[in-house]
Amino acid sequence: MPSFVDPSKCDGCKGGDKTACMYICPNDLMVLNKEEMKAYNQEPDACWECYSCVKICPQGAIAVRGYDDFVPMGGQVHPMRSADSIMWTVKFRNGAIKRFKFPVRTTAEGAANGYIGQKGANLDDENLLLESNLPIPTMVPK
Ligand code: SF4
Ligand code: SF4
Repeated sequence: MPSFVDPSKCDGCKGGDKTACMYICPNDLMVLNKEEMKAYNQEPDACWECYSCVKICPQGAIAVRGYDDFVPMGGQVHPMRSADSIMWTVKFRNGAIKRFKFPVRTTAEGAANGYIGQKGANLDDENLLLESNLPIPTMVPK
């Protein structure tokens, strides 16, 4: 099920040039109605339910109805981000609620480099990345 915006919660990201949901959507699906200052998914059929807009929306205005392979039919999933974690709240049809909290990356945007310190991570190194962790085969003269 594609994302949908609850207009009663959306504030158009307070009139910025580009809203958070427009910035994050990998498919460029979110647009802002500037007269109403409400965002909406302009092409729901093209939404791949990645939840990026749901997670980034500062107002919690976007929802995606999850498929029943990970959310029981009729259930709802709501993420709540903090500086160092994300809390997923799953609401079941019978009213039961479960919460799952996970740490999130805290490096500055654009600063993540998972290969710092690894041999072979730059082009000057004769080894391929991670190859240097393997024993180097030796040539046996015939
Ligand atoms: S990120 Fe949320 S509050 Fe901002 S425009 Fe999109 S739906 Fe509205
Ligand atoms: S769920 Fe993903 S693909 Fe769908 S509108 Fe949101 S960010 Fe775009």
